[in-house]
Amino acid sequence: MPRLKKLASITGIATLALLALPQANAQALKVVSTFSIISDFARNVGGDRIELTTLVGRDGDAHSYEPRPADATAIGNADVVLVNGAGFEGFLQRLVQASAGKATVVELSKGAMLLRNADDGHGSDEGHDHEHEHDHSDQNHDHDHEHAHSDQQEHAKAHHHHHGDHDPHAWQSVHNAQVYVRNIANAFCAADQEACPAYRANARSYSDKLEALDKDLKVAVAQIPSERRTIITSHDAFAYLGHEYGLQFLAPQGASTGSEASAADIAALIRQIREKKASAIFLENVSNPRLIQQIASETGMKTGGKLYSDALSTASGPAATYINMMRHNIETIRDGTLGK
Ligand code: ZN
Repeated sequence: MPRLKKLASITGIATLALLALPQANAQALKVVSTFSIISDFARNVGGDRIELTTLVGRDGDAHSYEPRPADATAIGNADVVLVNGAGFEGFLQRLVQASAGKATVVELSKGAMLLRNADDGHGSDEGHDHEHEHDHSDQNHDHDHEHAHSDQQEHAKAHHHHHGDHDPHAWQSVHNAQVYVRNIANAFCAADQEACPAYRANARSYSDKLEALDKDLKVAVAQIPSERRTIITSHDAFAYLGHEYGLQFLAPQGASTGSEASAADIAALIRQIREKKASAIFLENVSNPRLIQQIASETGMKTGGKLYSDALSTASGPAATYINMMRHNIETIRDGTLGK
């Protein structure tokens, strides 16, 4: 473990897992979370009763994550494994198989409001009919993978390399985040009944903070005039934010950062930016900035700062917690669209 920590500090690779603290509490519930946003929820519910290991760390990109042997070991030793599901963690199936553990894998997006993946990839409302999905019990996503692969040919020109029918970035809705938190409390209660009242009380008080956050975000968005609500980001990570608060997001990449935008995709997006008079363009913490910089220079738009899509910032950054991330994103969007 010390060797890995050293490696992380030498290379500055942010995606290396945060390693579990040395066994401070033998009674602690061993929890593995797949990425930093879920870890923040888990810490809020579990407090110091859990020993938490995060696979994809702050500023890390879960779409392109390559698991390490230590990850399989962590999952093998875990009591509870918290995952987003809905096809977000492409690396998960292999990892869970390799771990040979008996941990319960909990899909936190289960019961959340899930949006369908847009067919055209440029943030059109088509295909965004929302629905309540309760059928994500299949951890393996076998069917979804088959589907994605057989679709690859006919969608050769599309930018979507999607793993399922639904957009997995469901945490970008605060109301969905409340569902994640409830699911975490249920999972912790099932694994550690003695501490259940504490988990439930923590979940309730955090959920109240999320409710207050939602109100603040609505107030911030209300300051953006309706004709300035079309926004460009790197990949389709913000459909839920758009759905909740009445913003339209367009992106050159699809719902995964792993898909390359073609020249035709970029040309189509630039056309759309002009037609819809997009008001601001933003970098993302988990995406390469070059594509956005290219589009900004071709359209004469000025990049309006960085949004945090699929990962929290470092602890000293502006999005160190989920609540700060949501505030930072909405305030950055508001200021960018208003030309501040
Ligand atoms: Zn993403």
